[in-house]
Amino acid sequence: MDWIRNAIEQILPELVALRHDLHAHPELAFEEYRTAEVVAQWLQRWGIEVRTGIGKTGVVGTLRGEAGVGDIVGFRADMDALPIEEANDLPYRSRNPGKMHACGHDGHTTILLGAAAVLAQCRERVRGCVRFYFQPAEEGVSGARAMLAEGVLEEMPPKWVVALHGRPGLPAGCIALRAGAILASADTFDIWLKGRGGHAALPHLTDDPIVAGAYLIQALQTIASRESSALDPVVLSVTQFHAGNTYNVLPTVAHLTGTVRCLQEGTRGRVRERMAQMVEATAQSWHLRGEFEWHDGVPPLCNDRAVTEMVARVATEAFGAESVQWLEHPLMGAEDFAYFARAVPAAMFLLGLGDVADWHTACFDFNDDAIAPGVEMLVRLALQRT
Ligand SMILES: [Zn+2]
Ligand SMILES: [Zn+2]
Repeated sequence: MDWIRNAIEQILPELVALRHDLHAHPELAFEEYRTAEVVAQWLQRWGIEVRTGIGKTGVVGTLRGEAGVGDIVGFRADMDALPIEEANDLPYRSRNPGKMHACGHDGHTTILLGAAAVLAQCRERVRGCVRFYFQPAEEGVSGARAMLAEGVLEEMPPKWVVALHGRPGLPAGCIALRAGAILASADTFDIWLKGRGGHAALPHLTDDPIVAGAYLIQALQTIASRESSALDPVVLSVTQFHAGNTYNVLPTVAHLTGTVRCLQEGTRGRVRERMAQMVEATAQSWHLRGEFEWHDGVPPLCNDRAVTEMVARVATEAFGAESVQWLEHPLMGAEDFAYFARAVPAAMFLLGLGDVADWHTACFDFNDDAIAPGVEMLVRLALQRT
């Protein structure tokens, strides 16, 4: 399918310029107004139906193929940037102070726009429909959920949805993937231990929430180390412990916060339940009042086996078996594409970015060499049907 590579070659300079433009104008979660405008204009230019303002700033494109009846399939890209001051000295460095495309969503958006343009040019080869989901707010606040809440899957149910994420350290253009769990859930929690404070010299007249909090942190770790199978990973990190403000007063409140990462939905529920019990029991042991709030975050991302195998097959056909890596282990990071994957058969694959700085650092920059292979993967996936 050399014609695909030729078609990509034709628009590649434009795609690189587009990526640099997006990189220079990063927008934070749910503020992607300019980005959404750029996306919508590009799709319109290629004659793709566009709807904007989905889940606040999301964009959905629909390409109707002309090769006859076929499935609806979908691709998702994320558009938001991070609150990081860019340290790169690039001609296209961020022009928005304190904001930066440090996770490569500029690259993801560009690749999906590239795939849309190539598919629009060969719509006589496309069967069925291709849907392009450009989601806002992947970082932390789940634009995927906001988009799905508006029924973007129900209105035209896709047979599958595929997404990619750039991966520093993986050779440029290589594809890495895994069936089943590939990324973890990311929930957060707040704990308060409250009681009588008092004179630090007279602790027996107080209910010291600091000592109780210290015990609680130890106890919580046993949920991961003693109550979870070593083959069903749980990460429980207490990330803040605030109490007191001077040397000789025991405070009335200790406030702890943190995050929990799991790979299985059932495990997530069990950890939550055990945490609530431990907070309650610890508080009781030390005559304190315990309050526990669990904030549901992104669920684990579980790649559908059949869709993953399809992606691997297409990658092997396109780039050879040596460019496809099966990940032995999932990553304990999280991605809100998990909401798509919970609703329809879906898979996310990692696209090698070569030797670039790590995700979420001030020196990260998406590698333009990954654009063409990324576009080729999505185009080939859209064109092959089993
Ligand atoms: Zn990120
Ligand atoms: Zn990301």
